[in-house]
Amino acid sequence: MEEKRIYTLLLGSNLGDRMRYMQFSKELIEKKCGRILAASSMHETEAWGKTDQDDFLNQALLVESTLNPLDFLDEIQEIEMALGRQRNEKWGPRTIDIDILAIGSEVIDHERLKVPHPGIQERFFVLEPLVEIAADWVHPVLNRSAKDLLDDLRCATP
Ligand code: ATP
Ligand code: CA
Ligand code: CA
Repeated sequence: MEEKRIYTLLLGSNLGDRMRYMQFSKELIEKKCGRILAASSMHETEAWGKTDQDDFLNQALLVESTLNPLDFLDEIQEIEMALGRQRNEKWGPRTIDIDILAIGSEVIDHERLKVPHPGIQERFFVLEPLVEIAADWVHPVLNRSAKDLLDDLRCATP
């Protein structure tokens, strides 16, 4: 039997018709990657890192897939390209960004793919949607659940 993995993703969009890009990317994910098992609500958040740009829509997803992690990454990068994603400046505006937050309890340190995503624990816009769909997921390196990580970040933020 083919091995199935549960991929946790974060979608983000802050350029053009954001809702349409979010919707389109979910349709392409179901077509190319696998079934969407759960989706958080849609979060609207201020841009992070590079703050002089429009607000983001963010949504977390759980996707069941038989693809291996690098093939999965290839697919989501193709979807980003198909939806007009251009990589100009680091953290600049984008029609769609699809990040792999986690793959169950796997740890991957590859030049193209770091899992869990290194930014999870320092970003409210990641942890808030993540907690809606996977509060009990435990970060395999930090040994803290998503809910714990959100509490930790709240405590650390003045
Ligand atoms: P950040 O990763 O800090 O959220 P970003 O999403 O704007 O920034 P991108 O330009 O979308 O960064 O991606 C840069 C590279 O990150 C990609 O080409 C990809 O190979 C690599 N990458 C490493 N780990 C991951 C991951 N977990 N999910 C998606 N891409 C990843
Ligand atoms: Ca990102
Ligand atoms: Ca990305």
